[in-house]
Amino acid sequence: MIYKRSSALFAEAQKYIPGGVNSPVRAFNAVGGEPIYVKEAKGAYLYDEDGNKLIDYIASWGPMILGHAHKPVVDAVVAKAQKGTSFGIPTEMETEIAKLAVSMVPNIDKIRFVNSGTEACMSAVRLARGYTGKDKIIKFAGCYHGHSDSFLIQAGSGAVTFGSPNSPGVTQGTAKDTLLARYNDLSNVKELLEANKGEIAAIILEPVAGNMGCIIPESGFLEGLRELCDVYGVLLIFDEVMTGFRLARGGAQELFNIKADIVCFGKVIGGGLPVGAFAARNEIMNHLAPLGPVYQAGTLSGNPLAMAAGLTMLSELNDHPEVFKSLEEKTAYLHRGLIKVLNDAEVTYTINRLGSMISVHFTDDKVVDFESSAKGNNDTFKKFFHGMLTEGVYLPPSAFESWFLNDALSYDDLDFTINAVAKVAGAL
Ligand SMILES: *Cc1c(COP(=O)(O)O)cnc(C)c1O
Repeated sequence: MIYKRSSALFAEAQKYIPGGVNSPVRAFNAVGGEPIYVKEAKGAYLYDEDGNKLIDYIASWGPMILGHAHKPVVDAVVAKAQKGTSFGIPTEMETEIAKLAVSMVPNIDKIRFVNSGTEACMSAVRLARGYTGKDKIIKFAGCYHGHSDSFLIQAGSGAVTFGSPNSPGVTQGTAKDTLLARYNDLSNVKELLEANKGEIAAIILEPVAGNMGCIIPESGFLEGLRELCDVYGVLLIFDEVMTGFRLARGGAQELFNIKADIVCFGKVIGGGLPVGAFAARNEIMNHLAPLGPVYQAGTLSGNPLAMAAGLTMLSELNDHPEVFKSLEEKTAYLHRGLIKVLNDAEVTYTINRLGSMISVHFTDDKVVDFESSAKGNNDTFKKFFHGMLTEGVYLPPSAFESWFLNDALSYDDLDFTINAVAKVAGAL
């Protein structure tokens, strides 16, 4: 594979952008080597600046669930752009997408749109604190909720593979209000609730974690959290930035039949444009400005281009709920194929999968939390990643990330991928 032009572009970028990238994981630090530069993408494929064609398993980290440059979304954005791209004044489309999201997602009455998943989670926690009058939150080691200060405490993927789980610049004062629990460990959560009685505003988690590989909540874990929250008077926040509109029409709340108090969205909800959102029942949402005292705002929030992309994407998923089944079947097919070829190659591995999220861990222990995920052999992953890239398959460039399937992937693409894994695994 030729990387000549990508390599030159990366060298130039490093002169003007810290590390050459606008988000750390893109720099390939976790896998070594240099990033490829994308020229364009269509359906399940990326085309880089050197003319290589790659099958894409990150889907822009989730949003491109129907494949790249999905025509209805592109058409909607182009049509909107011609009518003005930002006003800072309300538009009808904001209500349309809000109404649709409220109809798709269980247990929410109102939704506020922001510009990223980070903003959604940051605002959700502020709202939880404002609503409960309490300061502390519980988060889980390895869960990522964006890069706002309260969350940069063992934050998974980017932050972990970067070796700076606690970033400089986050004050002690902020860090002390974030309590850390182990994923899938209810008794640990109970201990924290008991030791900090009356001080905790919310428990926030990824209902299926995707930022330490794909980690599935064990049976009873989410139910147990719901119960503990009710007993201790704490709000349960589901960060569905990855799982929302991906695992099911109504996200993890629908899939597991658990009601969260506040739900955060990002990624798919923007159809590839910068959108995040948070939502809850009226009782909680009405605490938000201008109705209530909890402040939250955004010059470009509800931006017409972003809303056009998001509304079209949600409409597509709402009108074609069979997409979720199709994605699940494709991912299960890939899963079965991977098991076969990895067994044949006698490689030590564990695969976690739920719906269209899947991750391969090079360890034979069960991967259920951050600690067990960190035991995966990172050197093996690096070789695997680069081997796959050479074969024409773009995987997430970190052992701590989930793969995201998109529905433009054909069974031929999946077979191609499985064959590539067979070749690469044979040489591991
Ligand atoms: C990606 C992600 C975020 C952050 O979203 P950004 O749009 O990158 O700010 C938050 N939570 C989860 C679960 C995510 O996967």
